Amino acid sequence: MSRVYNFSAGPAVLPEEVLKEAAEEMLDYKGTGMSVMEMSHRSKAYDQIIKEAEADLRELMNIPDNYKVLFLQGGASLQFAMIPMNLMKNKVADYIVTGQWAKKAYQEASKYGKANKIASSEDQTFSYIPDCSDLPISEDADYVYICENNTIYGTKFKTLPNTKGKTLVADVSSCFLSEPVDVTKYGVIYGGVQKNIGPAGVVIVIIREDLISEDVLPGTPTMMQYKIHADAQSLYNTPPAYGIYICGKVFKWLKKMGGLEVMKERNEKKAKILYDFLDESRLFKGTVRKEDRSLMNVPFVTGNEELDAKFVKEAKEAGFENLKGHRTVGGMRASIYNAMPIEGVEKLVEFMRKFEAENA
Ligand SMILES: *Cc1c(COP(=O)(O)O)cnc(C)c1O
Repeated sequence: MSRVYNFSAGPAVLPEEVLKEAAEEMLDYKGTGMSVMEMSHRSKAYDQIIKEAEADLRELMNIPDNYKVLFLQGGASLQFAMIPMNLMKNKVADYIVTGQWAKKAYQEASKYGKANKIASSEDQTFSYIPDCSDLPISEDADYVYICENNTIYGTKFKTLPNTKGKTLVADVSSCFLSEPVDVTKYGVIYGGVQKNIGPAGVVIVIIREDLISEDVLPGTPTMMQYKIHADAQSLYNTPPAYGIYICGKVFKWLKKMGGLEVMKERNEKKAKILYDFLDESRLFKGTVRKEDRSLMNVPFVTGNEELDAKFVKEAKEAGFENLKGHRTVGGMRASIYNAMPIEGVEKLVEFMRKFEAENA
């Protein structure tokens, strides 16, 4: 068996320890004689799995009691609709468009009410985060929406926007659990787990209780009402049971690593290795405004498309997988989530140095 260094943006690398544990429990989960995949979601064993997962996540993120934690399906993209359907009481919401994911969320919300694009960085291919200290927030906005870490472009909000008292909703898919967060600053924090937590198929929604009600847009499907899932503690129907089990293992791994403060330090250290190299390189350069750089997704280019393709090909041959940039932007992107070991980044930089010497 040989493992590669997987720089995929998602589904992405998971901690090896977690995968090994899951393998050991595959045929017989803790004496139950069955796999978690084969288990009733109403069983005692599964009840413990999902309850522990929630408790560990609450501990890691220091989630206050007046927030619900929901394990749902449909990926992050279903939330693009679920958020306006549940939250747009005045049918007005403000969107800050910093990339494709925020743009999709904005377009989806436009189907249900008046979505206002109050800021955007599209003028410079989303390579920066706009100044959000004094935006024209709508008087009657039900919420202000951001995508906190822009997976495709590699930018991150270092300070949250001034929402002037309005509820903040954030898609944190690609920075989930990468550093501590103050949950109280948000009304809703949500993310697909396949970037930094677990297998695709699970989306976690952390939502303040006062935002959960039966008062949703007419025609909202039962399965798309937060209240239905909150009242049933994520067991209204069969949840993505195996995926949640793996998420739970990753939460335990994060706790063992020392929690989110430690992960932040580790992620900063990892990202610095790569960014420092990009800043001094004669061949490679980062594509993002320095102060907005993501710790998780690091896009870079040589400035020559043929050379980019050659790099991706040779990197793959050397055991560095999925370094090709998103299909809409080209170039390269290294996603260096929690589970990417420091050696992975060190070895990548070593390889880039060698490639530079041979090609510059
Ligand atoms: C990947 C991603 C999405 C889409 O996630 P799906 O689970 O595929 O719907 C949305 N937002 C962000 C920030 C992402 O990185």
